[in-house]
Amino acid sequence: VVMLLASVRRIVEFTEQFQRGMTGIERFIEVMDEEVEIKDSPDATELQAVKGNITFESASFHYADSDENVLAHIDLNIHAGENVALVGPSGAGKTTLCNLIPRFYDVTEGRILIDGTDIRSVTAHSLRSQIGMVQQEVYLFSGTVYDNIEYGKPGASREEIIEAAKLAGAHEFIMQLTDGYDTFVGERGVKLSGGQKQRISIARVFLKNPPILILDEATSALDNESELIIQQSLEKLAKGRTTLTIAHRLTTIRNASTILVLTEDGIQERGSHEELMKKGGLYSRLYNMYTTNEETVGN
Ligand code: ADP
Ligand code: MG
Repeated sequence: VVMLLASVRRIVEFTEQFQRGMTGIERFIEVMDEEVEIKDSPDATELQAVKGNITFESASFHYADSDENVLAHIDLNIHAGENVALVGPSGAGKTTLCNLIPRFYDVTEGRILIDGTDIRSVTAHSLRSQIGMVQQEVYLFSGTVYDNIEYGKPGASREEIIEAAKLAGAHEFIMQLTDGYDTFVGERGVKLSGGQKQRISIARVFLKNPPILILDEATSALDNESELIIQQSLEKLAKGRTTLTIAHRLTTIRNASTILVLTEDGIQERGSHEELMKKGGLYSRLYNMYTTNEETVGN
């Protein structure tokens, strides 16, 4: 009887904790509603820790509202630990291509493999546990700064959370908030600047520590000064991970091992910065135009 009571109490405590935690998280998931669209197949397995090889095999995709392919027969092989940059005009399908990897959408033809496993054969949850994303738009849910970082690894210790914030360059400003890590953010909380929000989202990914990282114009909404600082945190974050970067500034991707130039007609060019400059094609034209005009390319 004692044991039974103890387990009932645990369930009640768990439920309470769960419900308290829900309001913010629920809204968060609603905002990220893309994340709940696909369903696991009944025989889905758990994707175990991966090295981070990503392969697109003749992958095509069109959104449900049109038959026209946004991506057609994409072949792509990204090696574990490689840093690949994706550039191209707005609307070319860069974000769409990235969003196929965590299965916000499923390919309509072909397949995507991670370490040789078709990503449709594993649970979305286990797949996404291997992927970190930093996007232009940062979603903070109603809760504390602490909760918002912890989301990257539920149940992490306070030490781990502070360590992640330090790596993301967020610790200093968090300590200056009225209640430090316990300060409320989100709709009912303090207003944070774009750069501060981005730093929290980067701390989240440091905490999660995934082998695969997707950076989709992570700094494009920031002023020049924050952009530079955040860029440095992102470079640190990318170390040792398979990284796919969509950059709105061509100068930030010069060090990528491979640059892919994506247009409406697919991947037009691929190679290192030097190779593509020597080739004198689309990339070199974009790059020269960019460096003479100091304009952003893409969105
Ligand atoms: P990029 O990131 O290169 O600017 P996107 O991947 O955002 O390009 O968009 C590629 C194409 O897909 C565009 O024509 C865009 O209008 C369309 N698109 C993007 N998101 C959606 C969506 N959720 N539903 C329908 N069409 C979309
Ligand atoms: Mg985009």
